Amino acid sequence: LDIAMSRIIAAEEEHVAHNYHPLPVVISRGEGAWVTDVEGKRYLDLLSAYSALNFGHGHPAILAAAQEQLNRLTLTSRAYHNDRLGLFAAALAELCGKDLVLPMNTGAEAVETGIKVARAWGYRVKGVAPDAAKIVVAHGNFHGRTTTIVGFSDDPQARADFGPFTPGFISVPFGDAAVIDAAITADTVAVLIEPIQGEAGVVLPPEGYLKKVREICTRRGVLFIADEIQSGLGRVGATFACDREGVVPDVYLLGKALGGGVVPLSAVVADRDVLGVIRPGEHGSTFGGNPLAAAVGLRVVEMLQTGEFQERAKLLGEHLEAKLQELVGHGATAVRVAGLWAGVDIDPAAGTGRQIAERLIARGVLVKDTHGQTIRIAPPLVVRATELDWAVEQLRFVLAD
Ligand code: PLP
Repeated sequence: LDIAMSRIIAAEEEHVAHNYHPLPVVISRGEGAWVTDVEGKRYLDLLSAYSALNFGHGHPAILAAAQEQLNRLTLTSRAYHNDRLGLFAAALAELCGKDLVLPMNTGAEAVETGIKVARAWGYRVKGVAPDAAKIVVAHGNFHGRTTTIVGFSDDPQARADFGPFTPGFISVPFGDAAVIDAAITADTVAVLIEPIQGEAGVVLPPEGYLKKVREICTRRGVLFIADEIQSGLGRVGATFACDREGVVPDVYLLGKALGGGVVPLSAVVADRDVLGVIRPGEHGSTFGGNPLAAAVGLRVVEMLQTGEFQERAKLLGEHLEAKLQELVGHGATAVRVAGLWAGVDIDPAAGTGRQIAERLIARGVLVKDTHGQTIRIAPPLVVRATELDWAVEQLRFVLAD
């Protein structure tokens, strides 16, 4: 490692809590699908900040919206109205085909908000007995890092030594709709799932699963909450992963790319009969709905309204899938692809996911491992087919190293 780079990393290690184990690169610039380190070396970014950079680094339209807003007004708190929030909410509600938006900042906050909304709906609308509400979740889930959320994770690293946990969650295997039906009781208020499990390694449920979950939730009178924080907003070749099965959940949880890679912005989106249960004073956030985030979010929604990014993700995703499938049996044991989002399981004989990611750095490609033997590929949707071809070539080389 270069001396300047080592020094920057050492300074970070010295004073930043070790809650991550970053790859040894120090990025100082980004443009489109590419980033540049402090030494001027360029890398193709195949992580996109865990899909928060769906539109790439520094998209001119997003930067313009942010800059215009920066010069005018950045924060009011919700103690006052601001002239951007309503515009953003109307556009996002329309994109989702829903009535109402509750703006927050991070993904975990959107999930927490969704849980509160579902419980309040359960008590006030469905008539569940006080403090009895149950929410069905899936094995292998990742919904964030707060204490309530890690309490229903089954990843030991996410949970160990962070209890005691919030009760009221029942976890069932992912991909099997019948077990959801069996887990629902009179006290169940919601089923909360990722339509495609991202952190788990881009795990796609069997075809028809989401349709069955929708049917079960409707028949049993419980809310279907889709965590589309990583899967939504163009990534899978459609606006939402639920669109792939023509399914509309009761509640969308959105985040990551909603903030255009510029600001933290998340949202819970649902119809009035659900989200309308929240009354003044019951929930909030100092930064939630701030005009800077709303201006950026509005621009992001406008960019998604054209369908251009969804189409790119679909076509480039098909291209990427064909290329990646050629690696199976040559250092990869399995490949799962949805739009421009892929999980590649690495043959242990070729190395761990982390080792593959580290070898790729030298070849100018950035990916992140997840759960040991898997690498996740999620390029900005502005990436070119030729760039993807080149990146897969680099992966082919390091798998054979
Ligand atoms: N939900 C899903 C599906 C995610 O993938 C993530 C983050 O990876 C979150 C929620 C949490 O988002 P945040 O890190 O912004 O809290």
